Amino acid sequence: MQQRLKKNLEAARGWTIQLRRELHKIPELAQEEEKTAALVAKTLGELGFTPQTGVGKHGVVATLDTGRPGPVVMFRADMDALPIQEESGLPFASTHQGAAHCCGHDCHTAMLLGTAKVLSEAKDKLSGVVRFVFQPAEEAVSGARPMIAEGIMDSPKVDYCFGMHVWPAVPKGQVGIKSGDLMAAMSWFDLEIIGKGGHGAMPHLCVDALEVGTQVVSALQRITSRQMNPMQPTVVTIGEFHAGTAMNIIPDRAELHGTTRTFDKEVWRTWDKRLRSVIAGVCASMGADFKLEFHQGVPPVSNDPQATDIVRKAALTLLGADRIIEPEPTMGGEDMSLFLEQAKGAFVFLGAQMEDGFPLHNPKIVFPEDILATGVALNCQIAWDLLT
Ligand SMILES: [Zn+2]
Ligand SMILES: [Zn+2]
Repeated sequence: MQQRLKKNLEAARGWTIQLRRELHKIPELAQEEEKTAALVAKTLGELGFTPQTGVGKHGVVATLDTGRPGPVVMFRADMDALPIQEESGLPFASTHQGAAHCCGHDCHTAMLLGTAKVLSEAKDKLSGVVRFVFQPAEEAVSGARPMIAEGIMDSPKVDYCFGMHVWPAVPKGQVGIKSGDLMAAMSWFDLEIIGKGGHGAMPHLCVDALEVGTQVVSALQRITSRQMNPMQPTVVTIGEFHAGTAMNIIPDRAELHGTTRTFDKEVWRTWDKRLRSVIAGVCASMGADFKLEFHQGVPPVSNDPQATDIVRKAALTLLGADRIIEPEPTMGGEDMSLFLEQAKGAFVFLGAQMEDGFPLHNPKIVFPEDILATGVALNCQIAWDLLT
């Protein structure tokens, strides 16, 4: 990489950290990223961009067009926070009650702004187009799709797209790069079981929705243990079960919410049918009725081999072989997968493991700020390799 780019990277180090702290203070939940998007747009404006705002509600897109022929390379960061009360003890902790950046999306946003800064300063050396995509609502899995529908990957058509996640399961200082399946396809569902309520002492006159619900929970677990190929991981989790009001009332309703995971696209497409048939069978056998609302979610994050090689080569140049690992795939889901369906690309795990070892989505998690410079540099190296 050119000497000048290195210098600019060094200069962007403190700038990126400062920006990340600003973002960390104002976490906003999915679909509510007004202040965050405004700060992103303002910063891009200061860097000389004319960003598009309000893309897919709160998305922001900036384009660096060098005016010279070359590939169109997209980088994506997500911007939303989680409904958690932060317990990090940081001086720049969340100032928003009940919202916190415990998934590190503030780091992603700051790193992408750092990338935009450094690459815009090197514009005269590049040939092609770089598009910076700031996506809302990743946690609600509803941010990527509307942005794509608004055409952010067209005109000019994106050739390669890259994304990054700060990742506590990968040691700090390392990057996790893997070709193929990295994160699972995720779907979710809302289920209502409808029975017949009555006196707790007279079950024979009722249809106990709570009891039916417990049978449904067990039966759904048997989809993964008995219907699925054990060589192909799948998960069915019921994370919420609400029923009943008093110890002596048989409830007429039970409400369940759950999620399913798989890497297999065929299984991903058929979850609805499978769940419905099991639930219908259990309910019919116990005289209950049900309403199932199934949400298809997103396909697996599967990295393109060629794009993965581009990332690996950039990481080799920048960090050396001993700082690259192949991470274990995770059953966690990510709507980065929707961008990867549109263009060759790769999603990378940026090592963020700390000694106290809190996982993502934990109220106490603290991300190491010095990794931000690595993320910015890796993005810039990828762009440099493709556009020079
Ligand atoms: Zn998350
Ligand atoms: Zn995340």
